Amino acid sequence: MVLQCQAAKEKGTHMMKRSFFSVTAPRLQVDSLPGVLPDSVRIETPRQIMLLIEETADNGNAMMLRKGDPVKTGQKISLSTDSKAYAISTVTGTITHIEPFPGESGKQFTAVSVAVSKEADPDESFATYCDSPSLEGAVNLLGCLPGSPAFEIFMDADKPIKTIVINAMDQDLFIITAQYALTAFYHNLTQGIQHLKTITGVEKVVIAAPQDAIQGYGDIGASVMGIDKGYPEGLPHLIAQRVAGHEIPVGKDFQDFGMAFLGVEAVASLGRSFQNKKPARTKMVTFMDKNGNRSLVSTIVGTPIRDILKRFDLGLNDQDRIIIGGPLNGYSTYTDAFPIRPDTDAILLQDKDDVAFVSDYPCINCGDCVRVCPARVPVNMLIRFLEAGQYEEAAENYDLYSCLECGLCSYVCVARIPIFQSIKLAKYELGRAATGEAADE
Ligand code: SF4
Ligand code: SF4
Repeated sequence: MVLQCQAAKEKGTHMMKRSFFSVTAPRLQVDSLPGVLPDSVRIETPRQIMLLIEETADNGNAMMLRKGDPVKTGQKISLSTDSKAYAISTVTGTITHIEPFPGESGKQFTAVSVAVSKEADPDESFATYCDSPSLEGAVNLLGCLPGSPAFEIFMDADKPIKTIVINAMDQDLFIITAQYALTAFYHNLTQGIQHLKTITGVEKVVIAAPQDAIQGYGDIGASVMGIDKGYPEGLPHLIAQRVAGHEIPVGKDFQDFGMAFLGVEAVASLGRSFQNKKPARTKMVTFMDKNGNRSLVSTIVGTPIRDILKRFDLGLNDQDRIIIGGPLNGYSTYTDAFPIRPDTDAILLQDKDDVAFVSDYPCINCGDCVRVCPARVPVNMLIRFLEAGQYEEAAENYDLYSCLECGLCSYVCVARIPIFQSIKLAKYELGRAATGEAADE
């Protein structure tokens, strides 16, 4: 089903009317978990899943995968033996399609569709890994656990990690996935922290959690830091500044200061995987329908969004919008075949009548984007260079890399310029140019 208007599709934008937020408070806040932990809605294993590999099949790699190949539950699948990108199959079945698939901000994936078999046949690689866990093995096998733990950060000998920050702050409005994982998966989180220390050799672990949820974690094996729920205080960049005790200079990343960030669900998934001796495959997702009804769903990675819609008996009309992530820093997709990925924390549906048109109006230099920017980026100047495709100038002279990716500038822009999306695209393109990818095409 194609849902997105053409203009929005071309710009890759998710702008929406402000009424969608119902913002009446003086400042934006991330939501709290309800007082009573909500039951999650379980989505049945679909008949077909889709796994996205962040690599294109035409990238000079020899294709290891073929239509008709069998796959086992927990099996690592990649396009070639040299590929760093991979997916872990969450089902046993047969590959039915391998095709290019567009992602957000210009990213290109290869989608591997798998028809699910009735009988599950587990791959034994992870069980073998459990007997002698190593960092290298974690990089090769655990990167697709729900929550997407990025173990490769720990491999850089030039930037040794001294502190692991487990981020239990939800990354956008309306989302409660991280807070749920912090509360509901306490046991697995405790186990995960111990395995994390063993695998990485890093002993100092800090959990960044909402200020009102920091009680009761004294024995978890990590210190807990309370974070204000005002948006965007929970974004990694701002948490890193608090942990470091100073600003992170432009051009530096967290690793330069010995910090690595992992999501709370990623660490709980690690604990669950070791406990069961098989890779965790169930992702928690905050789901919100067009009327603003919110549910927590648990579903295996690879489940197409259409199966979640079916579970809630929901339909979509032409030009309704599906947003992956939150309203401020999420991105929209044009198809309900889009699958749940290891890092998908939220799915929001938006009625076409609530979707603001992206305009071609020029910037009126009102300055709202500059005033709202927590990173003090001269956004009104930056956007001029981004719209002209002058990404290097934007980076060198207008603080492109200071951007925390909060999305507030797009939200306040009266001219409805998709600023945040342009920033993401520019960073992605500059990243590709730096690694020589663009030149190879
Ligand atoms: S997304 Fe916009 S408001 Fe947010 S940090 Fe980046 S430039 Fe500033
Ligand atoms: S908020 Fe929009 S119109 Fe106003 S200065 Fe920024 S880019 Fe221009």
